Amino acid sequence: MAEITLKSLAHTYLAEPMGPEDYAIREMDHVWQQGGAYALLGPSGCGKSTLLNIISGLLQPSSGEVQFDGCNVNALPPEERNIAQVFQFPVVYDTMSVYDNLAFPLRNVKTPESRVHERVMEVADVLELTAQLKRKARNLTADEKQKVSMGRGLVREDVTAILFDEPLTVIDPQLKWKLRRKLKEIHRRFNITMVYVTHDQLEASTFADKIAVMYQGQVVQFGTPRELFERPSHTFVGYFIGSPGMNFLDVALRGEAVLAGDVSLPVSGALRDAIAGARSSNVKLGIRPEFIEVHADPVAGSVMADVEDAQDLGTYRILSLRLGEHVLKARVEEGRVVPRRTAHLRFPDNRLGLYVDDFRVEIGHE
Ligand code: ADP
Ligand code: MG
Repeated sequence: MAEITLKSLAHTYLAEPMGPEDYAIREMDHVWQQGGAYALLGPSGCGKSTLLNIISGLLQPSSGEVQFDGCNVNALPPEERNIAQVFQFPVVYDTMSVYDNLAFPLRNVKTPESRVHERVMEVADVLELTAQLKRKARNLTADEKQKVSMGRGLVREDVTAILFDEPLTVIDPQLKWKLRRKLKEIHRRFNITMVYVTHDQLEASTFADKIAVMYQGQVVQFGTPRELFERPSHTFVGYFIGSPGMNFLDVALRGEAVLAGDVSLPVSGALRDAIAGARSSNVKLGIRPEFIEVHADPVAGSVMADVEDAQDLGTYRILSLRLGEHVLKARVEEGRVVPRRTAHLRFPDNRLGLYVDDFRVEIGHE
């Protein structure tokens, strides 16, 4: 078991990279602590598999270091890193029985047969494969094969970490739920560092204590699901987490006023000062649909918007609200008044985030 540190790590698949956009991993530092249950969350193509393959040693990084407990392991081949990796599609030996497939990683490191038996039975039990142990892998369904594949990752006790690369893609939704819970249970029982790659925020937050959100080859935020929701540190995290995602308004200062297009926003002095201090013209205010206050009548500090649409989702509604050139989404809980044409919006100071060049800037009042 070990802490995994990525130090000034970068990777490009190109022989002659011209700029940052040619890098699958842009220079980054990151630490996965021993025993954590982590998710690596990001859209397709952002570099998740590349990062896992660098950790497991399947891929050599272009620059930087991978360290296990502070020791550089760049030169170690995958088999000496003691990392178990589970891929999107099952990796099983078709001609072997399920039992022998599960036993394989243990026999490979010369585990005594009595211990092999104990572990295989234990893992088979957790994954509900006991009834299939004698069957040849080739006769299994895709779901079952993937369970065997996961079992092969879980069976060893001497591993530093288990890396899951979108392992539930081929699994049907019902079973998906169950397996995710199993993985959590296994994590609790064995206290192994687990990194679970997914592009699904729900999957990430049900599995992980902490989520690394990856975007364009970089981890743009590493935090609890709650932190990602309440204080996204990058506009991408704001968009990507939540449904619908965070609203962003392009803002500029004119005299004393903070303008979003032609609309003057009543914001705090601290926020106005922070906008004035921004060294870029790419300045946005972000607010989650859940945090916009929607009133039927004007209140202190409110701004008027046109209600363009109201989508009824059972226990709440999502309103589309036009504010000059921007359309904002607001979530209104069941039982609250939904204005028909005109709404008066209030943005609580402590719920407004300031983003300069897409990164969050902390403001005095927070
Ligand atoms: P993810 O797993 O998040 O979908 P990947 O790590 O697979 O992302 O890919 C990151 C970027 O690197 C993508 O732009 C992808 O096209 C590129 N890439 C991945 N594998 C290779 C490869 N073997 N050769 C060249 N480019 C690759
Ligand atoms: Mg991938």
